[in-house]
Amino acid sequence: MIKLAKTAGFCFGVGRAVKIAEDAAKEKGRVFTLGPLIHNQGEVERLEKLGVSVILSPDDAAAGDTVIIRSHGVPLETETRLYERDTNVIDATCPFVKRIHTIVAEEAEKGYKIVIIGDANHPEVLGINGRCNNTATVIAEEEEISSKIGPSDRICVVAQTTFEREKWKKLLNLIKNTCKDTHFFDTICSATNERQCEAAKLAKESDVMVVIGDKKSSNTAKLREICKTFCPLVYHMEDAADFADLKPKLYGNVGVTAGASAPDWIIKEVLYTMEENIQKDVSFEEELKKSLVTLSTGDIVKGTVIGITPTEVYVDLGYKSDGVIDASELAATPDAKPEDVVKVGDEVEVYVYRVSDVEGTVGLSIKKLASIKGWKVVSEAFENGVDLEGKITEVVNGGVIAVSNGVRIFVPASQANDRYLSDLSVLVGRTVPIRIIDINKARRKIVGSVKAILNEQKDKAMSEFWEKIDAGQKEFKGVVKTLTSFGAFVDIGGIDGLVHISELSWNHIKSPAEVVAVGDEINVTILDANRETGKISLGYKKAEDNPWAIAQEKLHVDDVVKAKIVRIVPFGAFAEIIPGIDGLIHISQISNKRIAKPQDVLAVGDEVEAMITDINWETKKVALSIRALLPEEAPKAEAPAEEAPASETEE
Ligand code: SF4
Repeated sequence: MIKLAKTAGFCFGVGRAVKIAEDAAKEKGRVFTLGPLIHNQGEVERLEKLGVSVILSPDDAAAGDTVIIRSHGVPLETETRLYERDTNVIDATCPFVKRIHTIVAEEAEKGYKIVIIGDANHPEVLGINGRCNNTATVIAEEEEISSKIGPSDRICVVAQTTFEREKWKKLLNLIKNTCKDTHFFDTICSATNERQCEAAKLAKESDVMVVIGDKKSSNTAKLREICKTFCPLVYHMEDAADFADLKPKLYGNVGVTAGASAPDWIIKEVLYTMEENIQKDVSFEEELKKSLVTLSTGDIVKGTVIGITPTEVYVDLGYKSDGVIDASELAATPDAKPEDVVKVGDEVEVYVYRVSDVEGTVGLSIKKLASIKGWKVVSEAFENGVDLEGKITEVVNGGVIAVSNGVRIFVPASQANDRYLSDLSVLVGRTVPIRIIDINKARRKIVGSVKAILNEQKDKAMSEFWEKIDAGQKEFKGVVKTLTSFGAFVDIGGIDGLVHISELSWNHIKSPAEVVAVGDEINVTILDANRETGKISLGYKKAEDNPWAIAQEKLHVDDVVKAKIVRIVPFGAFAEIIPGIDGLIHISQISNKRIAKPQDVLAVGDEVEAMITDINWETKKVALSIRALLPEEAPKAEAPAEEAPASETEE
């Protein structure tokens, strides 16, 4: 049986404001409300179709527009601004709120400090404060009293109309105890109190309660809270469309109440859908039997996902109340969105971390369950000496955290890598092998080592390497691991060797990066391997690429070659003849005239023609001459040439 509370839906003030707006729209064709008339998007859209539009500021209205002040009321300065803009103002402020405006204006005038018990950001409270020049003190919690009220204050206390009566009494008493010169006006609206009392009574008599109203409406949220205190199964619906997501179980006595902003037509739609969905074949005895299923904190149970919201997932556990998984309890990954983790209809295994029969709530967690299972895996790995794999997620004081099987493992800095690292953050994001070296169950602390496994792997790789060396192997395939200014470290199957920069190329290079990059797969030759120190020197450049071998075939004395100036020194210029071989053009061989310095004639990058005048294969030096290709000029008698330095080379 479905029973609707008499007080469900619009209160007097909201109903009155909606009627005023409808009538005004009928008469004027188009009117505006300053802010949405009520907290209900469906109703705001219905009114829009009737010609009632929302503006957010008086400055959005034009002269001649009709603007309705909603039931919450507005500060005096807002109302004044509307008149200044020549609008037709219709004041639909609820008369009960209007009474508070009058009280605070008069009492402030008499010199009393106004205290409003309520939510400082609620439009009604902002409107009330604006009637005493925004001088009021707003209090919502008892901790605020001592810092906001002094014993010598002269105080007049009023309340937000929808404030909870019991809390009002408590705060008022505390204020009176703090300050003797206090008088008050109980301005809590009886409509709110009546609705809440009726909801509590109905919830006590019902097997299931349905609360209708906007999810952002505070008075609807309060109704839901009250109903949960007295009824084990409570559904909060904004409208009939919520049936699809919530799939409510409606059986036995079903009570229905609605917040002050729920319009009649939405309540009727929900009731109609409820009639269609009520489970007539579900007996009260069956549900009672279900209610005898007991759940305790620490249970691990299975259930079916029956609803998903942006912040929560509802799970049918076959228990009298559905379980709720908060979004933060869904996965180890922070910011996981519920719809990305589960779907309606999914069977999920969950950990029960809270059962409250009083509130009718069951708190569930998938994340905790993963952690519990992970602890089991990690503990067994420790006991059985099995290594695990984990991902390093963060650097902490003294080491890093690696996550394996959903469990956080502390890896001390000394155990995080096989080599010392000054900056551990380079490890974050890496998947690494981990050996559990200590577990403290009481403190729930697990300590692991990556180094122990890497060192073992290295020892094994080293003995395999020496077996190959002993068998005469010289050539290895490797992967470039790191680059330094003096060379490249290459992994040749679990152990690292160094290719010195001079062994990377036959050409002069300034950095190993000119030849190889980290991750490159390259073929290397063992140049030297020391079994005691473990140092391995590798070669990368190939004998057949040796430019001097090529030069033997290509270069001869008296050949005329094209060359590129690569370096200029005081005694001449070096020019590249073929890649890897530079010849020296001595200053005396640059021109057939006397020159003071090579730069007078040549610049780096110039291409010149020169004759090879000498090749010394032993010292690997080539002498070039441009002058040899030029006609000789007769020396001038009056300008004896300065003696040029003897021929030199850099090598
Ligand atoms: S709750 Fe009371 S005071 Fe507020 S608008 Fe409704 S009738 Fe008026």
